[in-house]
Amino acid sequence: MTIQRPDRDNAMPQAKTGLIDAHGRVIDYLRLSLTDRCNFRCVYCMPPDGAVYMPHCELPTYEELLRLCLLMSGLGIRRFKITGGEPLCRKGAVAFIRRLKRMPGVDQVTLTSNGTLLAPYVEELADIGVSGINFSLNSLNPEHYAAVSRTQAGPEQVLPVMAAAAKAGITVKINVVPLRTYNDCDLPDLTRFALENGYHIRFIELMPVGLGAACTGVPPHEIHAAIERDFGPLSALDGVAGNGPANYFRVPGHAGSVGFISAVSNMFCPRCNRIRLTSGGFLKSCLHRDAGVELKPLLRSGANDAAIIAALRKAIMEKPAGHAFGGVAQENFRQRFLMHSIGG
Ligand code: SAM
Ligand code: SF4
Repeated sequence: MTIQRPDRDNAMPQAKTGLIDAHGRVIDYLRLSLTDRCNFRCVYCMPPDGAVYMPHCELPTYEELLRLCLLMSGLGIRRFKITGGEPLCRKGAVAFIRRLKRMPGVDQVTLTSNGTLLAPYVEELADIGVSGINFSLNSLNPEHYAAVSRTQAGPEQVLPVMAAAAKAGITVKINVVPLRTYNDCDLPDLTRFALENGYHIRFIELMPVGLGAACTGVPPHEIHAAIERDFGPLSALDGVAGNGPANYFRVPGHAGSVGFISAVSNMFCPRCNRIRLTSGGFLKSCLHRDAGVELKPLLRSGANDAAIIAALRKAIMEKPAGHAFGGVAQENFRQRFLMHSIGG
């Protein structure tokens, strides 16, 4: 059986043209948060009654975002992950994605989504050339799913969308945040479902960002052991796969893969290739540090391209060597942004 790489069009080595930061890392990947709004209230991400959202006029406009993306692609940012909040909560998101994908220098556009608003757009996204969608799916059990997402939605809404995406040629990944008591008993079922459908499943370690600090995660080694008990020994997939931090494993006999993104227990900062644009237009050079630059005031004060490029270069050069999860660094760090505006 042919083993499908976690990303068909980005299993290539990191672009040689990307910007190199002060720690020698090639930075070629942007996570772009389109909105801080979401139709879910995941226990680790969003307050139960929703957050105080940014007024629409405070979000960078699509024209402003496209200008930034063009300048970034000129600097070597080639791959773009559209995120949020729920990206489809922002009107015009798909038309924006189409324009972004057509932009010179943009090699790859992918999406991360809870999947519940995607159904009408799957064909269009495939036509645009979106090559991958990461679906957040924390359980196949409707009650557990609803308990984590704090919505009336259920997995039955998302599963057909995944199937449609795969049929349209889009790589499907399932993102699970394993949480004690919420979905820890569901992980083998989720793994089986993913593998039987040829999808890639990734377990994202709970990060103590915002509401995540009040939840209890499941250690990755425990999940690894549980999967091996059910499926036999996992064999590591070598090389760069996907867009960065996941460690991928193959399960013999299955086309999909199992990945672990363990930011806290397995610090992958020396391999970090990414920057983030929050929904409010702050270029965040590290998920769990304050470093970065407010781009919106520049955009709205008539700054020319050279000034914006200088700000981008400076922020990337000043990208911290590592995050502040764990120990004293965590205690001393007050995260300014919540996950639904950072975009994960
Ligand atoms: N709404 C979309 C979704 O859920 O995929 C995109 C935005 S969401 C903020 C992006 C990713 O961040 C999701 O995979 C989500 O599970 C993850 N995430 C949010 N808060 C987290 C936390 N505290 N720890 C670990 N992952 C988190
Ligand atoms: Fe919404 Fe995604 Fe946050 Fe869940 S993790 S509340 S789906 S932004």
